[in-house]
Amino acid sequence: SNQNLFVALRNAFPADLDALAVETDEGLRYSWRDLDRATAMMANLLQSLDIPKSSDGVPPRVAVQVEKSVEAMVLYLATLRAGFAFLPLNTAYQSAEIEYFIGNAEPAVVVCSGAHFPWVSQIAFKAGTRHVFTLNDDRTGSLLERAAHCSDQQAPVARQADDLAAILYTSGTTGRSKGAMLSHGNLLSNAAMLKDYWGWTQTGGPQGRGDVLIHALPIFHVHGLFVAIHGALLNGSTMLWHGKFDPKKVIADLPRATVFMGVPTLYVRMLADAALTREPPAKMRLFISGSAPLLIETFNTWRERTGHTILERYGMSETIMLTSNPYQADARYGGQSERRGGTVGFPLPGVQVRIQGDDGQALPPGDIGGVQVAGPNVFAGYWRMPEKTQEEFTADGFFKTGDVGLQDERGYVTIVGRSKDLIISGGYNVYPAEIEGYLNDMPGVAESAVVGVPHPDFGEVGVAVVIAKPGAQLDGEALMAALKAKLANFKVPKRCFIAPELPRNTMGKVQKNLLRDQHKGLFT
Ligand code: ATP
Ligand code: MG
Repeated sequence: SNQNLFVALRNAFPADLDALAVETDEGLRYSWRDLDRATAMMANLLQSLDIPKSSDGVPPRVAVQVEKSVEAMVLYLATLRAGFAFLPLNTAYQSAEIEYFIGNAEPAVVVCSGAHFPWVSQIAFKAGTRHVFTLNDDRTGSLLERAAHCSDQQAPVARQADDLAAILYTSGTTGRSKGAMLSHGNLLSNAAMLKDYWGWTQTGGPQGRGDVLIHALPIFHVHGLFVAIHGALLNGSTMLWHGKFDPKKVIADLPRATVFMGVPTLYVRMLADAALTREPPAKMRLFISGSAPLLIETFNTWRERTGHTILERYGMSETIMLTSNPYQADARYGGQSERRGGTVGFPLPGVQVRIQGDDGQALPPGDIGGVQVAGPNVFAGYWRMPEKTQEEFTADGFFKTGDVGLQDERGYVTIVGRSKDLIISGGYNVYPAEIEGYLNDMPGVAESAVVGVPHPDFGEVGVAVVIAKPGAQLDGEALMAALKAKLANFKVPKRCFIAPELPRNTMGKVQKNLLRDQHKGLFT
């Protein structure tokens, strides 16, 4: 049978195709029939292009850098439907980055905003791409003009489970982005499992009519594109679509919704709005957080303010979702149902997680080591980086996530940082997350980041960058003295800077490489 992910998503559309599939914050309404027809037309357009058949069997790539819109989601689904591979690009990327991605991925088709067309098309044509379309977030552009002439009937192209469905470039938090090759089977297995694990419901539920998702994330990344969109589509759930995250607008939509997914900064921004009380989310079923660590203070304050316990989960571009706090009692882990702040929960069903020591031995519960994973969700490798792929897989087929963490006796996984962020000071391992945790607990501290910089005596030492809460006056020396009273000296950062904010990328991840660069000359 046809293993194309689109077929599974299409089969999950509700019987009533005139029901509401998507409603945007601008008041546009799309039925399931609209999605079906629009994806068919766009898939027909893609298939009608004169694209030379590849010799290696890899489907043509469709590289897309556009502002968020329902039509951009339709383009993703149409790409699957046509059997092509989707390659979303962060809207923040400028010409040097786009040149790298397009040169690297050699897409057959490039779609960009009209405003960027002059320079993106130049890069694309130079790289040999012959089809460049525009798509704007106001439903204009050549892509839709051309698709309008195509038939709204289309048979989804046959795909195998291990055929390439998407190339997702990693966020580039630790270095140059790598293209993770995800197959139809990777995506579908993860989505089907999450539908179950997170209790998606088609009837009943707190709204009495099944789940309704607020979609307020960007769609060039695993969180908004896969976890959120697949979640809603595979359940036939309506999406309340927010083009940009605006805390006020999301809070105003909470009474009509049941599920929300956000990166930690979205939760922080909603908490900063007095309109967030117990009332608006009274009928919500589930708040999910991921993509970056959720501060325990955010977790606690959210619970106090709304009565809801955020469910934190962990995943990455290469694997989609890996672990999750329980939605309800998890029989695999003794029926535990507690969502524990500061942890990312249990390995998801079908996903194997193990913690490895430096010399490759499996570590006992509670010990910190490298997080390695295996499962039907794990990608096949990095696009055109065979050596890198080989390096990141173990001989027995586990993927080295690059994250450092532990799994406790009860089964909960905690991520303590990334191996690249680990500081080795005088021969001792220092885990930045541990130091940041202590700093964040100190009065007046909003958040912090600890990075390692070169040091002539110790090899590396920690440097802390601390952000004050509004109105608080902080003193770096005093913070270091307070740390010294609690922690072994080798763990205490040698310098502490008070800064107005931490450098973050669009997914809310702290860019520690920038901090390291900024402070690398402090001791040398
Ligand atoms: P690059 O691989 O290019 O350096 P990246 O790892 O940030 O960038 P993504 O694939 O977008 O790119 O992000 C995955 C990473 O995000 C994980 O490896 C992990 O470090 C982090 N992450 C995701 N969810 C969580 C979470 N709940 N808690 C802590 N970290 C998380
Ligand atoms: Mg990564």
